[in-house]
Amino acid sequence: LKRIIIVGGGYAGTALARVLDDVAEIRLVEPRDRFVHNVAAIRAVTDPSLLKYMQVPYDHLLRRGSIVQDRVIAMDEKGVRLEGGVEIAGDIIVAATGSTYAKPFKPGLSVAPFDDDCRAAHAQLLSSKRIAIVGAGPVGVELAGEILSAFPDKQVTLISDAPVLLAGFSPKLSARLAEQLQVLGVTLRLGERVESLAALDRPFPGPLRIAGETLDADIVFPAIGARPTSPPMADALLAPSGRLKVDPWLRAAGGHTVFALGDAAETGDPMTTAGVVRQKQWLAKTLKAMLEGRAVEDLPPYKPWSVHLMVTPLGSKAGASLLPLFGRGLVVGPRITASLKGKDLFIPRCHQGLGYPAPVFQRSA
Ligand SMILES: Cc1cc2nc3c(=O)[nH]c(=O)nc-3n(C[C@H](O)[C@H](O)[C@H](O)COP(=O)(O)OP(=O)(O)OC[C@H]3O[C@@H](n4cnc5c(N)ncnc54)[C@H](O)[C@@H]3O)c2cc1C
Repeated sequence: LKRIIIVGGGYAGTALARVLDDVAEIRLVEPRDRFVHNVAAIRAVTDPSLLKYMQVPYDHLLRRGSIVQDRVIAMDEKGVRLEGGVEIAGDIIVAATGSTYAKPFKPGLSVAPFDDDCRAAHAQLLSSKRIAIVGAGPVGVELAGEILSAFPDKQVTLISDAPVLLAGFSPKLSARLAEQLQVLGVTLRLGERVESLAALDRPFPGPLRIAGETLDADIVFPAIGARPTSPPMADALLAPSGRLKVDPWLRAAGGHTVFALGDAAETGDPMTTAGVVRQKQWLAKTLKAMLEGRAVEDLPPYKPWSVHLMVTPLGSKAGASLLPLFGRGLVVGPRITASLKGKDLFIPRCHQGLGYPAPVFQRSA
């Protein structure tokens, strides 16, 4: 059996490891001791009872392969070196080192502080009347909706220097979400730039300065986007974004055995699990064909989504989504968005993907 080393056990690494477990000898290297379903972290800030459903052990993920709990500090065409000093040789290496996000939305390399960070943000939210969110990408928009769905009496201001919500997806999606946020009572300040942020990586107390004015806020959530975690490879192989540059077959430039997917790879998809699912399906098929002796260049190259899937709930009942259908994409409203994600935040699917049964869970509020 060929040896495949997967670096990073997030959404991309775990999904790929599981589908290749029967056809190769898999070693998945991941420093965290369990998987964290960060997709549900936005609602966990309004409802920390969700936290117990957001962490899943890795022990049921693979039947044959193994999980190595460590951090890769160097990798090349032949294998990886671990922080603990051990070297592991492989025939195929896959970089899936993902990205980080401001607290409390994604854990760091150790999971332990994650629950406390979410609970602390929840406590700050409860004691705050005026909330400012900086950044109107998927996390900022969803957070504004979650806060007002759970606490309709709060005052929420969503600020972005972009002129629309979720810039770059679809004008119709932006408009549908703006309408619903305004109905919920969110004040939108689009096309405006915050003069300086006290922190980019965690919530902090206000006020904020915007265009020479002071905006009073008891708490400010920075939500200005994910930062890729560069795979530990030569700088020349990385794009300016820090994502690994890849060729049309998702291989690190100039090489034949290092592949990459997910947030850490410059695939042409945005940093979403929707992109991860498409890349994982393509890469699994390609690596299986390669293991059967086919040359990668004879196989169809990866094509990113031409229209990006974006599902944006605003609480469990509202929201809007862009589905990659009919060429230019189809925008749908609250009912479909709630059934796709708003009701269960993909929690059941996450557990099943790690080999556990779907939990029965209920919101506390
Ligand atoms: C709050 C929030 C909500 C989101 N909601 C959605 C959503 O609803 N839908 C959607 O499509 N996308 C959503 N996203 C985006 C989604 O989380 C990312 O696209 C996804 O995490 C990417 O998966 P990944 O496996 O590439 O990276 P990650 O999930 O970041 O996983 C990377 C893994 O690599 C490990 N790692 C890093 N460096 C090393 C190393 N040197 N050695 C070994 N391991 C390493 C990390 O510990 C981590 O476990 C959301 C993001 C956030 C922050």
